[in-house]
Amino acid sequence: MSLDLTLCPDCGAPAEVEWRAVMESTDGPVEHARVRCLRGHWYLLPVASLAGPGCRLAQSPTSFRE
Ligand SMILES: [Zn+2]
Repeated sequence: MSLDLTLCPDCGAPAEVEWRAVMESTDGPVEHARVRCLRGHWYLLPVASLAGPGCRLAQSPTSFRE
């Protein structure tokens, strides 16, 4: 199981995807992810709204340090 990282939609800090689940919505099933950032925010968001894998996090590991 790999660690899945994205960005916090609130503060922009690195955030970990804790789990994913498919949820029914008015538009049909949508995959959601629960993310928790380094500063303690957490969200349940559609996966499509996350900063995707292979995005700038993967390309700029130095951005983790702040
Ligand atoms: Zn945050």
